[in-house]
Amino acid sequence: MVTPGALCAAHPSAAAVDTCARCGNYVCSNCMEVEEWDTYCPDCYARVGKKAPASSLATTALVLALLSISGCLPLALPAAILGHMELGKIERGESEPGGRNLAQGAVYVGWIVTALSALLVLGILMVAILGASV
Ligand SMILES: [Zn+2]
Ligand SMILES: [Zn+2]
Repeated sequence: MVTPGALCAAHPSAAAVDTCARCGNYVCSNCMEVEEWDTYCPDCYARVGKKAPASSLATTALVLALLSISGCLPLALPAAILGHMELGKIERGESEPGGRNLAQGAVYVGWIVTALSALLVLGILMVAILGASV
């Protein structure tokens, strides 16, 4: 909601039509950016960055994670490591923030698949050892 007569924070001559969902600044119809159901000012929109391009590292990490789910289990570890690297780069501002969700997903999937495949290998070893000793 906007107080009648409120002006855009970036354009003092333009009437505000909405407030930024992140910083609360007034935005005019020229500079408002709508992402799903939220309105953002241009600054915050750049930070929220849902539509910002993801770096190739983030994309690679997620692709490796997806491949690991689909059967290439050994790819899960590099997916998790690349995901961690990318999250660190985004944190330091060295990489596109748009890749954060991809990198995060790659880290989760990567470690889960790594843990599951480690259990699988252990299970196979146990069966082999038990089978050999009977
Ligand atoms: Zn804002
Ligand atoms: Zn404006």
